[in-house]
Amino acid sequence: MQLTFDCEVGFESVNPNIKPSISLLPLSEYDHIIISESGGKDSMACLFYLLDQGVPASKLELWHQCVDGGGADHVDLMDWPATESYIEAVGQHFNIQTHYQWRSGGIYNELMRKDSLTGDVYYTTEHGEIIHLPTKNGKNNTRLKWPAMSPDLRIRWCSPYVKIDVFRRVLNNHPKYKDKKILVVTGERREESSNRAKYAEAEIHACSNKTRLVHAWRPVIDWNEQRVWDEYEKRRFLPHPAYLLGWNRTSCFGCIFSTADLWAMMREIAPERFNRLVELEQQLDHTIDTNRVSLVDKANLGSLERLPNDARLSQWVEIALNRNFETRDLIMPRWEVPAGAFRGNTGGPL
Ligand code: SF4
Repeated sequence: MQLTFDCEVGFESVNPNIKPSISLLPLSEYDHIIISESGGKDSMACLFYLLDQGVPASKLELWHQCVDGGGADHVDLMDWPATESYIEAVGQHFNIQTHYQWRSGGIYNELMRKDSLTGDVYYTTEHGEIIHLPTKNGKNNTRLKWPAMSPDLRIRWCSPYVKIDVFRRVLNNHPKYKDKKILVVTGERREESSNRAKYAEAEIHACSNKTRLVHAWRPVIDWNEQRVWDEYEKRRFLPHPAYLLGWNRTSCFGCIFSTADLWAMMREIAPERFNRLVELEQQLDHTIDTNRVSLVDKANLGSLERLPNDARLSQWVEIALNRNFETRDLIMPRWEVPAGAFRGNTGGPL
């Protein structure tokens, strides 16, 4: 039986059967409820749902893994520049703690890894500190190749190295979570893919041990996309700017699974970022596309039809490509379905 994996933190799904769900504790009995927050619509739907259930904001935490690293060793490569400030604004709006974790240098450092251990892990605390978890174990290894466009995380290394393992190391090592009852909430939905259709709604999380109980919960697993956008509409809540620009997912800006349209759109709105990836393909003599189609050739096959064709394009580009998203911009004067809604489930790590 082949193990297949997702880009979410903590789960490994075993095909072909749906795993039976475990029973969760009453929400009030968990010491911490951690929402794995990408800034995308499904993790936001989890947040809206938990607040609607009456979970106090003081019990919630938004955790985000910065795929391009953080602090002094951030390297602009894959992510939307706006994502962290968008999540920070969401936290401020609802008065919820936000926490960030990353591997040193993010995807870039792992991509350029040469006969060395993987990078150290860092996390932020509610006191504004950055805590360092040095990597001491493992094998020296060389990458110099892009992650494979595959569901198998042994070769699609980006998801485990910059997200899943980083999340688990922080949860396993942060003293605050020792001997506690923790609920980890993620936003996968069955509608998104045949793989996700088989996920259990709740299960024991990989970080659970004899003294720390960690449950994993996918509260929106049976929601359809309409219901997710209804939650935004109810609050006139501004989606991550990626959706406003026509992206159907908020994963990495330069996700390896991006379609031709998404690469063409990236080249149009962020040519420097696109060209950086093109240069790296040439330097490594290895294409992101597993079928050896270069990014330039792939983008040439794409269409710009999804990008807004009015004055809002430059407004959304300005917001998406900067790191200064403002809390006051989260509530829209009037709700509008974003250009990226209902575009199907392609172009991301499903
Ligand atoms: S490139 Fe895509 S698959 Fe890899 S970590 Fe980013 S979103 Fe996940």
